[in-house]
Amino acid sequence: MRLAVIGGGAAGFFLAVNAAQAASSLEVVVFEQRDRVLSKLEASGGGRCNCTNTFAGVKDLKTVYPRGSNLIKSQFKRFGPQDAFAWFEGRGVPLMITADQRVFPRAQDSRAVSGCLKTEAERLRIRVRTGCRIDRPESLLRDGGGDFDFVAVTIGGTPGARGCVPSLFAFKLAGGAPDGLAGVSVPEVVASIPASKLSARGALLVTHEGFSGPAILKLSSYAARELASCAYRFDLRVNWTGGRNYDEVSGLLRDLARAHARKAVPNASPFGLPSRLWAHAVSRATACGEASIAGKRYADLSKRDFARLTEVLTNDVYAVSGRARHKDEFVTCGGVPLDSIDKTTMESKQTPGLFYAGEVLDIDGITGGFNFQAAWTTAYAAATAIARRAGM
Ligand SMILES: Cc1cc2nc3c(=O)[nH]c(=O)nc-3n(C[C@H](O)[C@H](O)[C@H](O)COP(=O)(O)OP(=O)(O)OC[C@H]3O[C@@H](n4cnc5c(N)ncnc54)[C@H](O)[C@@H]3O)c2cc1C
Repeated sequence: MRLAVIGGGAAGFFLAVNAAQAASSLEVVVFEQRDRVLSKLEASGGGRCNCTNTFAGVKDLKTVYPRGSNLIKSQFKRFGPQDAFAWFEGRGVPLMITADQRVFPRAQDSRAVSGCLKTEAERLRIRVRTGCRIDRPESLLRDGGGDFDFVAVTIGGTPGARGCVPSLFAFKLAGGAPDGLAGVSVPEVVASIPASKLSARGALLVTHEGFSGPAILKLSSYAARELASCAYRFDLRVNWTGGRNYDEVSGLLRDLARAHARKAVPNASPFGLPSRLWAHAVSRATACGEASIAGKRYADLSKRDFARLTEVLTNDVYAVSGRARHKDEFVTCGGVPLDSIDKTTMESKQTPGLFYAGEVLDIDGITGGFNFQAAWTTAYAAATAIARRAGM
């Protein structure tokens, strides 16, 4: 029997290799439109390929897969992150785990992962045809006039195609980054969109254009559709205190003022905030036409000064004017609807013999190795279903 895999990326190679391994009689051909296979994987993770995550501390898969978490949850019973870890290590790719639970090849080189997939494909005599774009996958099936028994579509995500929109991007602020703040990193903020209920917690990095970092990338993923529909122009709220509420922050500011009564306000920052960010907050808190808070000592702060500082720390609103590409990772939200496939085998309900895996499906994750894991998991599911049908 014959399997055509369309797309020579992470999901395509993983599917091809696992299917060929499980059904030795299966003849597998990979069609890749470019002249190189696995190019995105090789560029991934800044050239290091964050190939999975331990998922330690992930209590709810929805928080890391805004779309597709139910399918991923059920498929993890068959092929989860530990299986992916063992799969690569078992094929000579030693892996390492970072403090934040991301998994990389120990060589710190994505070519360790792509090399393993290419070697396995060669060993299993999988044919790879580069420079070969397939626009009508169904036409390769025997029913469609072709000479393949199975076709797997693993063409990744294309913004604009099938209602796909970008996910995992940084935010540009109208007028660029606040003066003097570029390069500042705040360990824990809560970023939210007042017009929706969506929010994300994590570190925030101020770039030249605006805001990036884990909290922002997560929010861009959670709100991918909402932000596309408003053309990436929206108000962003930042709670610089890691989500503490107004009353708590107000009380803590007064405690700080008592402890540092004689200090100039800019010289003692609360909540471990970087001094440049605190200076920025102090200047934003000064109302137009009133005496600058920056020129006062803590002992001299008025009730209104405390109220404004608290407001800026807990509810600082910025106008976002667009999205900026995040250099390390970028995926699409949307794709083949999950209700159009069998969620165990990844086979199309409309076209028997046609399978999907990877980012082409309406599944996407936040940064941290979750997107490659979704590719391995869905590709494995399709590969085993195909191999079973091919009579492994
Ligand atoms: C810069 C960058 C860094 C990233 N870093 C990470 C990371 O560290 N960790 C992580 O988990 N995720 C990362 N991602 C996301 C991850 O790369 C994708 O989720 C993953 O590659 C999806 O695999 P895939 O095989 O489904 O799609 P792809 O890797 O996109 O592969 C699809 C392949 O299909 C080919 N193709 C498309 N259409 C056709 C056609 N009609 N005919 C033939 N071939 C076709 C394409 O040329 C491509 O080679 C990153 C993404 C980017 C852009």
